[in-house]
Amino acid sequence: MDKLSELLPGKTSTAPEDILCYGFDASGLQAPPAAVVWPRDVLDVIKVIKYAYTNSIPVIPRGAGTGMTGGAVPSQGAIILSMEKMNRIIEIDKENLTVLVEPGVLNGKLQRELERHKLFYPPDPASMNFCTIGGNVAENAGGARAIKYGVTKDYVMGLEAVLPDGRLIKTGVKTAKGVVGYDLTGLLVGSEGTLAVITKIRLKVLPIPQEVITLLVTFKELEKSGVAVTQIIAAGIIPSALEFLDRETIKAVENYKPIGLPNDIDAMLLIELDGTPSVITKDAEKISGICEHLDGEVIMAENEAAREKLWEARRAISPALFHISSTKINEDIVVPRNRLPEMLGILRGLSESSGIRIINFGHAGDGNIHVNLMVDRNNTDEYEKAMKLVEDIFRATLELGGTISGEHGVGLTKKNYITMEIRPDELELMKKIKAVFDPKNILNPGKIFP
Ligand SMILES: Cc1cc2nc3c(=O)[nH]c(=O)nc-3n(C[C@H](O)[C@H](O)[C@H](O)COP(=O)(O)OP(=O)(O)OC[C@H]3O[C@@H](n4cnc5c(N)ncnc54)[C@H](O)[C@@H]3O)c2cc1C
Repeated sequence: MDKLSELLPGKTSTAPEDILCYGFDASGLQAPPAAVVWPRDVLDVIKVIKYAYTNSIPVIPRGAGTGMTGGAVPSQGAIILSMEKMNRIIEIDKENLTVLVEPGVLNGKLQRELERHKLFYPPDPASMNFCTIGGNVAENAGGARAIKYGVTKDYVMGLEAVLPDGRLIKTGVKTAKGVVGYDLTGLLVGSEGTLAVITKIRLKVLPIPQEVITLLVTFKELEKSGVAVTQIIAAGIIPSALEFLDRETIKAVENYKPIGLPNDIDAMLLIELDGTPSVITKDAEKISGICEHLDGEVIMAENEAAREKLWEARRAISPALFHISSTKINEDIVVPRNRLPEMLGILRGLSESSGIRIINFGHAGDGNIHVNLMVDRNNTDEYEKAMKLVEDIFRATLELGGTISGEHGVGLTKKNYITMEIRPDELELMKKIKAVFDPKNILNPGKIFP
């Protein structure tokens, strides 16, 4: 790695503290890289990639390491290419409603900067204050607002990226439309750092909504919260967020960051509406009616501070659960939203029959449930039992017409399950695409494919 330090002096490290800190992500998996490099611009990225290509060294692109499936965890002898210092917002184009950013900019930072210009970038992962836009693009991240506004792929208009042999490509357009050639932008979004290193991103943005209303609804019966979700959508209302927390999640949040949530309830919905004041006020009344009919208790956030407090609690869920069990298994299944009550019932049944504590929360509006199996990885018997349970959960999800990952990707943790969902012909095609982009298999090897 001495040559690498010569190529990028002051931007490369093999110090033990860097090797330790850049060896894991939020999946909890860990392996030491051989070196860490912090490129400052695309020329630095090209230098690293060409060096790695010539010497057949694996390179792992990394944003902030908040990925849940091990996507940024190094393989043997790999270079970690940390994009965190390429973090400029290059251009905000108000007339064409687009922005051009470097991949290392934090999602939350971009959101706040856009607000100052009365603009709005909808994808809002709960990790928004510490994950990068590059990581969001590579994982096709979603967030609470996905139900109304879609996910990252719906906002990526074009990319600049470095191929595994060092060639620079540009994909997509700056215009509202553009259909010339295959959609390489779409192919790179969600490719989990296995096809190219993304170095610039052009995103579509929207004018900021006029007003927001936030409702908190508590239920004494879990299944009724699922029915409420289905009825709200069936009534023709699309909230900008429709989040679900079960009893155990509420307790965990209250223990970790108390905001005064009642502790005798079975489930809670956090619902947000945005748009024209007269329209969303009427929608909020309709939603209250639906929920009250199902014995839900509705509270409206009275001001921005109350609203922010509720969202803070929502964003605290993941850390709160890690606080209970740092080695929990976290899945993010999705079912068609009208099958949500059924899936919640199945999860409760599986938890009771296996004796493994399962805590659920998630983006109920789009059927995306974060299923947390609270197990101790150091207890081999318990862990093996839990892994078997994961397979049962995935099977039930697929039988209901769902998918085994809504937003966290495949990475390392789900690669052995990919064939449950993807059939051999499609998998073969995906492997061939990987080989065309990366014939030497140096970019994030060992991820996605079993
Ligand atoms: C508390 C918490 C809450 C979360 N909530 C959500 C949520 O609501 N929705 C959601 O979708 N996810 C969520 N996540 C998961 C995670 O934040 C997202 O997957 C995020 O997009 C990862 O971004 P990152 O910058 O941390 O990427 P990393 O973890 O560093 O990397 C993720 C993947 O992207 C690749 N990559 C990173 N940068 C580049 C680049 N420039 N070019 C090519 N490949 C690259 C890496 O190789 C890796 O495969 C959450 C995570 C945590 C810890």
